[in-house]
Amino acid sequence: NSVTYSSGNWAPFTHKLKSNHAHQLRLITLLTDDIRQEKLYFDIQPQVNLADNRIVGGEVLIRWNNEHLGQVSPAEFIPLAEQTGLIYKLTDMLLEKVFQWASSNPVALLAQRLSINISALDLLQENFAERVNILLKQYRLSAEKFTIEITETSVFQKSEIVGHNVKKLHDAGFELSIDDFGVGYSSMQNLVALEINELKIDQFFVMNLMTDTQSQTLCRNMINLSKDLNIISVAEGIESEDILNLLRQWHCQVGQGYHLYRPMSTLQYLTLLEERDQPLSPSINRA
Ligand code: C2E
Ligand code: MG
Ligand code: MG
Ligand code: MG
Repeated sequence: NSVTYSSGNWAPFTHKLKSNHAHQLRLITLLTDDIRQEKLYFDIQPQVNLADNRIVGGEVLIRWNNEHLGQVSPAEFIPLAEQTGLIYKLTDMLLEKVFQWASSNPVALLAQRLSINISALDLLQENFAERVNILLKQYRLSAEKFTIEITETSVFQKSEIVGHNVKKLHDAGFELSIDDFGVGYSSMQNLVALEINELKIDQFFVMNLMTDTQSQTLCRNMINLSKDLNIISVAEGIESEDILNLLRQWHCQVGQGYHLYRPMSTLQYLTLLEERDQPLSPSINRA
């Protein structure tokens, strides 16, 4: 494929590391190799419309199963990839794998959409949006079927490059979602200026819903805020029926969590979509 990998910053990485523990260096070495060999893959966690229980899409979650280390959590290797500049190759590899998979399994995007996490660092790359668009076209896919998840802190950076990338992605038809919302207290101004389509309430608040009144207040406010701004509200980390019911009662639109579905293989996801016999029209409004 003709899209070239962006050049990661290799030279300064050792300085950026907080410690040069042997374990971290080993992780980096192995991660570098496995990214080069495109050995990482992804699972998908279904997302559910809380009003009618339909699957409206899924979140792509990267997975790394190394032959020496076994399964390593993205919570561990994504920050490491960010500190070493490996993240650019990782994101490119993942996007290509997702687009390739989606184009060869059209069922995945018939009535559902896919959410993809990207790093704040990706958005700071001058040509990021252009590269994504080129790749998308190569696989003849429509951007309207994809949501790009970015974390709150990345849109906080008052960078022209971030603004440029966000606008380009938007213009191409991608939807934008703010992941882990509530942790960094994005201003409403940010949400409006960047024409954000979706807010994902941080799972910390969702998990504590039954026991913590502050989390309740924050969740309700975030749901109402998104309603007022015409933004889709997504609650992730739903681990019980009680929490699910509460979120339904508050008219949170979309839910994700172990109580609904765990992240699953792409094959299981396709099977699930077929079993659930979802209507084939793309008309499912996530609202
Ligand atoms: P995230 O984007 O907020 O993704 C949600 C995480 O919560 C996933 O963890 C998911 O498996 C987990 N989760 C979902 N429902 C529940 C639940 O009910 N209870 C609990 N305890 N956890 C739940 P995962 O797959 O380990 O990913 C962790 C983080 O790594 C992600 O958080 C995201 O920030 C990052 N990540 C994952 N895949 C990618 C990727 O492809 N690219 C980038 N840049 N980051 C990624
Ligand atoms: Mg996410
Ligand atoms: Mg999240
Ligand atoms: Mg998170």
